[in-house]
Amino acid sequence: MKFTADLSRAHQLDAQDELASFRDRFVLSDPDLIYLDGNSLGRLPKATVRHLGEAIEHQWGERLIRGWNEGWFQKPHELGAKIAQLIGAQPDEVVVGDTTSINLFKLVVAALRAYPGRKKIVSDELNFPSDLYVFQGVIDLLAAGHELELIPSRDTISIQREDVEATLGEDTALLALTHVAFKSAFMYDMEHITKLAHQAGGLALWDLSHSVGAVPLKLNAWDVDLAVGCTYKYLNGGPGSPAFLYVRRELQEQLMQPIWGWFATKAPFDFNLDFTPAEGMSRFQISTPQVLSMLGLEPALDILLEAGMDRLREKSVRQTEYLIFLAREWLLPLGFSLGSPLDSAQRGSHVSLRHPEGYRISRAMIESPPLDRDVATQAGPDRPGTPAVIPDFRTPDNIRLGIAPLYTSFTDIHRALGRMREIVTEGIYREYSKKRLEVT
Ligand SMILES: *Cc1c(COP(=O)(O)O)cnc(C)c1O
Repeated sequence: MKFTADLSRAHQLDAQDELASFRDRFVLSDPDLIYLDGNSLGRLPKATVRHLGEAIEHQWGERLIRGWNEGWFQKPHELGAKIAQLIGAQPDEVVVGDTTSINLFKLVVAALRAYPGRKKIVSDELNFPSDLYVFQGVIDLLAAGHELELIPSRDTISIQREDVEATLGEDTALLALTHVAFKSAFMYDMEHITKLAHQAGGLALWDLSHSVGAVPLKLNAWDVDLAVGCTYKYLNGGPGSPAFLYVRRELQEQLMQPIWGWFATKAPFDFNLDFTPAEGMSRFQISTPQVLSMLGLEPALDILLEAGMDRLREKSVRQTEYLIFLAREWLLPLGFSLGSPLDSAQRGSHVSLRHPEGYRISRAMIESPPLDRDVATQAGPDRPGTPAVIPDFRTPDNIRLGIAPLYTSFTDIHRALGRMREIVTEGIYREYSKKRLEVT
C-alpha cells in the first residue's frame, strides 16, 4: 500500500475502509477529541448505553432476584462462549469473571500444583509487571522452592526465539507470557512458542490482554493450554469490566484453582458442607458474578463478532503501517524513535514512539489547547480546532498510540501525528510540567 503524507490521502483511505461505518456504533461526543487509547480503555458502544439502562431498570428493578434464573447465572458461560469465538476456542473452554490478575493467580497455582516435580516459571522482561508480581506472590505463597526466570530482551522492544528456547528446560513447569507486550506491542508467534514449552514438558499460559479483539487468535489450533485476558481494552467492556480465562478442555478435570468459593462447586444451591469441584469451566469460577459489568460487555462483543477478527486485523495492520509511515516522515527527524517492531507480523495494534520529552509531549497532546492559547477561534467546519489527542504514556519515554480498528480512522492518525509534530516544533510541550500524574 502506497502512503503519502497529505490529508487527502487519509480521507481517501477512510473512504476505502469497509469497516468505517462501525465508528458510528460508538459514542463520539467531541469531534476534536482523537482517542488513541483504546488499548487501555475502549470506547463506549451506543448499544451498551441502552442495554445497561434497560438491564438496570427491568432486570434489576423489576425482576429482582428472579433474574438469576432468567439469565444471570449462566452469563459468565454465555459471554465466555462469545469470547471463545474471538480466540479460536470451544464455547465450553472460556468463562468470564473476576479480574485478569485474579484469573492469572488461579491458573498459575493450578498449573504449578499439577507439576509438583518442576520448579520453574518462565516469563519475560517485557511482561506487564502485575503479571510478574502475581508469579512472585504465588511462589511466596506455595513456599515449595519455585523460581521465576525472565527471558531477557536484547533491545527492550522484542524477545528472540533462541532466548526463549535457552530459558526453557526440564525444570520448567509453566511458560507464562503476554502475547502482545504492553509497552512495545511486540507480538510472539504463539503457536511456535507454545510448541517450545510443550517440548520442554511444561504448560503454556498466555495473557491475551493486549491482543484479544485486536489480533485473530487460534488457541485450539495452536494447542494453547491456558489463557487469561481483559475485556476493557480492545473488547470495549467498560472500566473494570470482568476478565476471562481459558482452559483447554482436556486439562479442565486435571486442574483445580485454589479459591474454593461456592460457584466452583458442583451444586452451589445444595449448600453441602464439603467442597466438591464442579465439572468443566465452573470450577474456575469463585463466587457471585459481577452481573451488571457483564451485561455492559455483551453488546460490545456482538459488535466485534459482527466486524470479524480477520477484517479488523487487516485494518489494524494498515493503520499501524500508516502511523509508522507518518512518524518517519514527520517525527523521527524531531528526536522521536520507534519503540515497536517494524515488522507487522511481530506487532500488535499499538505503536510506541519514544522521545526524551515523551511525558511532557503526551501532556500537551491531552490538554489541548493549552489554557493560554486562543486557538478555538480558528475553528470552523472547514478548519477543525486543535485536536486533543489521548495516547498514554509508559515510563520512561514511551508514548503509546493505540489503534482500535472498530473506531480509529486514518484521519484520526493523520491529525494526531500532525499535532505531535506541532507540539515539538513549536516547543508547546515546554509549557507543561514534568511532574507525573498518578495515572499515566
Ligand atoms: C491490562 C492488563 C492486565 C490488567 O490486569 P487487571 O487485573 O485487570 O488490573 C493484566 N495483564 C496485562 C498483560 C495487561 O495488559
